[in-house]
Amino acid sequence: MNILVINAGSSSLKYQLIDMDTSAVLAKGLCERIGIEGSNLKHQPLGKDCVSIVSPMDTHADAITLVIGALVDKYHGVIAGMDEIGAVGHRVVHGGEFFKQSVIIDDAVKKAIDACCELAPLHNPPNLTGIEACEQVMPGVPQVAVFDTAFHQTIPKEAYMYAIPYEYYEKYKIRKYGFHGTSHKYVAQRAAKMLGKPIEKLKLITLHLGNGSSVTAVDHGKSIDTSMGFTPLAGVPMGTRSGDIDPAIVCFLMEKENLSIDQMSDVLNKKSGVIGVSQLSSDFRDLTDAMEKGDEKATLAINMFIYNVRKYIGTYSAIMGGIDAIVFTAGIGENNSSMRSAIVDNLSYKGIKIDPEKNAQRGKEIDISTDAAKVRMLVIPTNEELMIALETLELVK
Ligand code: AMP
Repeated sequence: MNILVINAGSSSLKYQLIDMDTSAVLAKGLCERIGIEGSNLKHQPLGKDCVSIVSPMDTHADAITLVIGALVDKYHGVIAGMDEIGAVGHRVVHGGEFFKQSVIIDDAVKKAIDACCELAPLHNPPNLTGIEACEQVMPGVPQVAVFDTAFHQTIPKEAYMYAIPYEYYEKYKIRKYGFHGTSHKYVAQRAAKMLGKPIEKLKLITLHLGNGSSVTAVDHGKSIDTSMGFTPLAGVPMGTRSGDIDPAIVCFLMEKENLSIDQMSDVLNKKSGVIGVSQLSSDFRDLTDAMEKGDEKATLAINMFIYNVRKYIGTYSAIMGGIDAIVFTAGIGENNSSMRSAIVDNLSYKGIKIDPEKNAQRGKEIDISTDAAKVRMLVIPTNEELMIALETLELVK
């Protein structure tokens, strides 16, 4: 069966068509500037040249129509007709407390996704628009919602509650939700395969380290804590996001700098993290280059990132009573070997030891620990699209 995976943003729509018999990505692409002048589709069919199609797309339904057209096109198409698409899997950012797993979409599901818009105002509305566009263009094809938050719905209450008046949880559902769930789940499952053990017998820490970063404790296959919180702003310092800070700083700064709510939110989301500290870049490649040239702020930003990731490793191994493996994934986790070795540098007392030769490899699944290490260090490239397709297949087959 072929499954179409859709990730709809406010003016963009990413897609992949995956053949589930072989896991091959038959085609992938991106519609940009939906509803804006100059909209275009970049379509990459497997084994053929990428094509750029410039065509007006006033709505997401126009974009989906264009995507289907590209998929069945005589020259750059990969299937004969729409009937070769067995189901559609949609990435939905926020499932609130409604969804503990992926679901087949019906009216009640759409209502619940809509109810979560308040919790993810930038993401859930376009996700819902993408779903409705597919329903319109592909009637009768099953649609599945796969939530970034669902994997973390197993976190126990003492870990997901914040110590603020309980009424705010009841009134506004303020609690930890966690994000990157599809990625953490995927790499945790792959880790179990690599280790040749059932996931129900493993204690894992998964490190999704990219422009946005999060750390998750996966105990016997379930997320029991994660570093992101009510929003993706919490946890370790990120490219531009602050991560955990003393909440009193917010009130202090708003008063001293006369900042509005929007300006303060901008500071924390877009001007903080490693770009805020280094005053140079949010990209770890630039920071590593600058550090090698002796830039003090870049060095500090990198060290703060390493320190905080290590702190989460310590915390999560304490709450799980030990760990079997640590998994590195996403842009930094998959590619930056010096960051990997720095993060676990002083953890040899836990039985963690990286083999420098294995660690030099990148972009593939590999165990980078020494043969004698008690805790395995795994590098696993994440694949959220494949995970969405697998969950979709599971529900529709
Ligand atoms: P992501 O958000 O997962 O795309 O990750 C972005 C981060 O990954 C950036 O900080 C990059 O510096 C880092 N990154 C991506 N590719 C590489 C690479 N080939 N080598 C080192 N770092 C990389």
